[in-house]
Amino acid sequence: MDDARGKKDPLEERIEALSSDDLRRALSVFEEKIHSAYAAYLNSCVHCGLCADSCHYYLVDKDVHSLPAYKLNLVVSVFKRYFDFAGKKFPGWVGAEELDQAMVKEWVDTLFGRCSLCGRCFLNCSMGLNIPYLIRTARSALAVLDLVPPGLDSTVATAIEKGNNMGIAEKDWIETVQWLEEELQKEVNDKDAKLPMDKKGAKLLYTVNPREPMFFPLSIVAVGKIFCAASESWTLPSEGYDVTNYALYSGDDESAGIISERLIQSMEKLGCQTLVLGECGHGFNSNRWEGPEWLSKKYPFEVKSILEVVADYIRQGRIKLDSSLNQEPITLHDPCNLVRLGGIVEEQRYILKHSAAQFVEMYPNREKNFCCGGGGGQLAMTRFSQRRLDAGKTKAEQIRKTGAKMVATPCHNCIDQLMELNKHYKLGVEIKTVCEIAANALVLDRGK
Ligand code: SF4
Ligand code: SF4
Repeated sequence: MDDARGKKDPLEERIEALSSDDLRRALSVFEEKIHSAYAAYLNSCVHCGLCADSCHYYLVDKDVHSLPAYKLNLVVSVFKRYFDFAGKKFPGWVGAEELDQAMVKEWVDTLFGRCSLCGRCFLNCSMGLNIPYLIRTARSALAVLDLVPPGLDSTVATAIEKGNNMGIAEKDWIETVQWLEEELQKEVNDKDAKLPMDKKGAKLLYTVNPREPMFFPLSIVAVGKIFCAASESWTLPSEGYDVTNYALYSGDDESAGIISERLIQSMEKLGCQTLVLGECGHGFNSNRWEGPEWLSKKYPFEVKSILEVVADYIRQGRIKLDSSLNQEPITLHDPCNLVRLGGIVEEQRYILKHSAAQFVEMYPNREKNFCCGGGGGQLAMTRFSQRRLDAGKTKAEQIRKTGAKMVATPCHNCIDQLMELNKHYKLGVEIKTVCEIAANALVLDRGK
């Protein structure tokens, strides 16, 4: 890909400069990660085509490169060439392919550029093939070669260097929380209401997406309002508060482990009991499920989604909600990493049913829901922006069919994509987090 002035794309230059030693390095990472459990069933694709309509890319563009089975085959064909007896001896007979510069180029374009690692094809594969796992494994091999597309690579690098993916200085984070605390006090009419920072021994430690202090600060106030109404013992940490982990998408497990470890350090430093993950789909999957794998250790504390916490408050009568305070019809987008891959399915529905007068499901929903198109690092990789917007058409149509005026989604990454879809497909909806909607329905019986 050259730009308008004929300047070479640095990513393509790096691909062209790959040596055989580089390719061997990538293959050894690839081999290490496709452990025997996966290798055993790599040849199981029966070409039934059932995965085709699972993928929001293929549904929209009908391009063979977007077929999940095609993406799977890109990975499997290389595996066969180097690690399978028949593939080594008779590559042409069994469709084994070399990992050369042309294949690397196709891996980058297809496995980074046509997949959001949403897991929907895995759900529908007749042979139970974990296609996104294998695609991520190939991404890991590309990460070793420094071939993670720009935007996604810098997001991970910023998180590693600065402690959060947006590079927010600690001083700015602290000042933002102080300013938001004043907003909270006005909102709840209580001059003693707090957004506690670094409160040692607090029961809950709450983490946020850095996009919140930067662009959506009121989502932090909304959660503060709910904690305040529930008289919760909680805190925000001054460092180690970033719930996101974009290394889940880049395939770089070492960076992923470093990023997740920071939340553990915050927990240890402040002596909290429960790590509460803010509304972030991939942050939930990374820190609840993948983190212990990356770090090869069990967490010595409980990890919960903020949705589980808020649903419990409602069940236990710790907060009161008046659904008539949200009159407009509200629908819900299920983030893939939180729902299909994370197992948090009913809590958000329970909260919305108590917070909104009219809650309407989109179809399909829950674990069968379509990806919005913003996952897999797509929002960060600007070179694939047009494909991302096109692939979001299915989600846009799902939303339009509900007739809802508001879309709730417990993920700031999804919010960014839905905001773009809203504009591009002229949906005319408002987009909010689940906690923002719940906070708006809160009945506060305190006032000073
Ligand atoms: S994981 Fe999602 S985006 Fe990737 S191939 Fe499967 S259905 Fe398509
Ligand atoms: S559904 Fe599974 S077995 Fe069928 S074509 Fe797709 S990857 Fe192959």
